[in-house]
Amino acid sequence: MRELSLRTCVVLIATAVSGLLIAITVKNAEMKAVAGPVSSSEARLVTGPNPLSSIWEGPYGGVPPFDRVQIPLFKPALEAAMAENLSEVDRIAKDPAPPTFENTIEGLEKTGRTLDRVTTIYGVWAATMNSPDFQVVQREMAPRLAAFDDQITQNEPLFKRIETVYNSPQKQKLTPEQQRLTWLYYTNFVRSGARLDPKSKARLSEINQKLAGLYTRFSQNVLYEEDNQFLVLKHDQDLAGLPQSVRDSAAAAATTKKMPGVWVIMNTRSSIDPFLTYSDRRDLREQAWKMFVNRGDNGDEHDNNAIVSEILQLRAERAKLLGYPTHAHWRLENAMAKTPERAMELMEAVWKPAVARVHQEVADMQALADKEGAHIKIEPWDYRYYAEKVRKARFDLDQNEVKPYLQLEKLREGIFWVAGELFGFEFTPVTNVPVYHPDVRVWEVTDKATKRHIGLWFFDPFARAGKRSGAWMNSYRNQERVNGVITTIVSNNANFVKGKPGEPVLMSWDDAVTMFHEFGHALHGLNSNVTYPSLSGTAVPRDYVEFPSQLMEHWLLTPEVLQRFAVHYQTGKPIPQSLVERIQRSATFNQGFATVEYLASALVDMKLHLAGDKKIDPEAFERETLKQLGMPEEIAMRHRIPHFSHVFASDAYSAGYYSYLWSDVITADAYGAFVEGGGPYDRKVAERLRKYIFSVGNTVDPAEAYREFRGRDPKIEALMKKRGFAAVQ
Ligand SMILES: [Zn+2]
Repeated sequence: MRELSLRTCVVLIATAVSGLLIAITVKNAEMKAVAGPVSSSEARLVTGPNPLSSIWEGPYGGVPPFDRVQIPLFKPALEAAMAENLSEVDRIAKDPAPPTFENTIEGLEKTGRTLDRVTTIYGVWAATMNSPDFQVVQREMAPRLAAFDDQITQNEPLFKRIETVYNSPQKQKLTPEQQRLTWLYYTNFVRSGARLDPKSKARLSEINQKLAGLYTRFSQNVLYEEDNQFLVLKHDQDLAGLPQSVRDSAAAAATTKKMPGVWVIMNTRSSIDPFLTYSDRRDLREQAWKMFVNRGDNGDEHDNNAIVSEILQLRAERAKLLGYPTHAHWRLENAMAKTPERAMELMEAVWKPAVARVHQEVADMQALADKEGAHIKIEPWDYRYYAEKVRKARFDLDQNEVKPYLQLEKLREGIFWVAGELFGFEFTPVTNVPVYHPDVRVWEVTDKATKRHIGLWFFDPFARAGKRSGAWMNSYRNQERVNGVITTIVSNNANFVKGKPGEPVLMSWDDAVTMFHEFGHALHGLNSNVTYPSLSGTAVPRDYVEFPSQLMEHWLLTPEVLQRFAVHYQTGKPIPQSLVERIQRSATFNQGFATVEYLASALVDMKLHLAGDKKIDPEAFERETLKQLGMPEEIAMRHRIPHFSHVFASDAYSAGYYSYLWSDVITADAYGAFVEGGGPYDRKVAERLRKYIFSVGNTVDPAEAYREFRGRDPKIEALMKKRGFAAVQ
């Protein structure tokens, strides 16, 4: 029952750009503005030092001053921090001493601390505390932050110094971590245009600023349609088939919309998917499905097609300027896949068996519909509905039967316990740390054996207005040793639905998997044991970063976790073994659907960015590409182009949506090391996992790190087995 094991969460940490740029490029790149009425706010500023720029005070080496944030403070804090960073960099660039690793590369690792602090809080507000006032700041600052990035990578004397260190024979005397850091700086500067002539540099910067503006508009359009389009259910008969939990949240949504006496299905995945799964009303399912798949594609002022065309042309032009055949080649050079061809090869290997599986799934559903006398042909708005019926018929498994055993707080204890078994961590709740919202709670992480402080874990689990959808991990501060011994602060964020006051929050199986997934990212950050912040924790290539998180999903299904932590919210009894067996037996159920809806998006993403600089009509491109691929007509892409935020809200996952599959090949293969060893809690395998994977950040090439862990390269067979597909064709 893991049809959504391709979890497309976002980690708010990038493939490292440069130490300086990481905070900006990444955090800024991931930000989304929520559309809505705009009011300019020129509130009175507090006098004295801006708390957003100040050194973090308090326990644990200082904590973010979330209690002192005011929106008018962001702009001056960002401006001052950018100016400070530029002058720090300038001092390094103009240093009369000959360039060395210490005075140049390590020097750069010590700059930008103020900007890191400001952009961390800015990122938290963008993702979780968004408001019309804040959007005004975002719209103004997005292009300016892009221009700031270019000012640093285009600083010629600075680049010359980096280049000298990179080419110096002295480099061999550096530690492997220092050599990798030097390589990373050098290569990232080159990749950002450091070697271009002045005219090309100016054009590049112009392109980057234009793109930053287009990304903001793209996101705002999607979010506008998610906020302002919805399905209203007026009569009891419109609710046919919906379980109580879906009715309750639809009623709550109506209250929020100030529409008493009706029910509202919001135009977001967390509202639409359950509706499509359970609603007996085929006409309403069709309406809901069409509304959802047409976000950003309605031919009105929020239509994203023209914006996408422009983004693609600018990206193609930028890639050419930088000396790459296409945007995809530029993006993948430093990824684990290295070339678009290798990523395509993997996707195509999985595509055919996945499509074959879809045809079987459709045949099963059609047979069931025929037997019921439905007189229909399965359409995309029928897929989830009939899949659920087949699941019940075949595995006697009703998702609503599982829910009473999945309490949020118990599962949180479960992930803590797993972290204790695998990595020796202990979690203690703390209340002496400021939070930005009453829902947020904080735990201190220590070493069970030595009691050494390891870091802080912030947990922000519930949906609310102004918080973007989905689930993600964020790092507020990276572990490092170059600016003193600094411990990490990480957070997990999700959009679980809050229960009634005083009642335990019950989750779906899928939500439970999400908790384990995001916690995997958190553990990747918490285990970090490196010297330089640019190489710390989750700052690894995009197609590797989902490996630790997807790996952690496997521990939910272990009997140790289920027996102790999946206990009934009323009786306290553990989940019955027969139910666990039914869950396990259905593990590969509906994987055709999950894989194809994801892969269609990943393939279209890659093909869009391999198409070069010809003008692209997104609608025609999507239609023709899917036709060539042989896309089953009963399924839509998980993200159609006009609302594909992974790809068009920033550069982050552009030509990179394949990353989830790439990482999952590694994940499935890595879990095999436990299976072949002493099981999921084999201490020796866990120690190797910590040593070679979770603690090294980006200090080691990921392919090498994996070989150290597994003794060989990952093989695709484990993935095919995990999804229940036939052998590679
Ligand atoms: Zn993830």
